[in-house]
Amino acid sequence: MQQVNEIDTLIKLLAKIPGLGPRSARRAALYLISNSDQILQPLSQAMQMAWQNVKNCQFCGNLDVQDPCYICSDPRRDETIICVVEGVSDLWALERTASYQGRYHILGGVLSPLDGRGPEELNIDVLVKRASDSKVTEVVLATSATVDGKTTGHYITDCLTNCSVSISELAQGIPLGGELDFMDEGTLIAALKDRRVT
Ligand SMILES: [Zn+2]
Repeated sequence: MQQVNEIDTLIKLLAKIPGLGPRSARRAALYLISNSDQILQPLSQAMQMAWQNVKNCQFCGNLDVQDPCYICSDPRRDETIICVVEGVSDLWALERTASYQGRYHILGGVLSPLDGRGPEELNIDVLVKRASDSKVTEVVLATSATVDGKTTGHYITDCLTNCSVSISELAQGIPLGGELDFMDEGTLIAALKDRRVT
């Protein structure tokens, strides 16, 4: 079957989306094409706009259409506390709890010797710079409860030894191996509230 055309390209690209394999990608492509005016056209426009306008915040690494992002530029947010997370989805998870009023710092992953991801690939230098600011008094480590997440937490703690900040981590309640994005909001609120100084 000769099918190297726009449809084939669409299927191939959709299949790269996490959670979609080739089969789901074919179904999605067919759905999009069958609903061209209602879904495909507005979706392609929304994607174009996202591609043009969404950027990383220079301070925390969050994604937004403005830089600094809406959290870093919000004067009501507590600038004395920085919560360190692996990715934007973790920030979203914590924001959904509406119980954290500080700022964030996105690492862009965790240290992973097996995947060859070292400290230089993570957004750690900027964190140390931010934590050196005299206004900052606490850094909350909210990396996931995996071996790599914990290793990353210890590494960051070492990097922050010369900063006069207290370092805390999310309380137990986050199950071992747990990623924030999969936690229910009640668990996250409790983990934030009962965070302990390391
Ligand atoms: Zn920001």
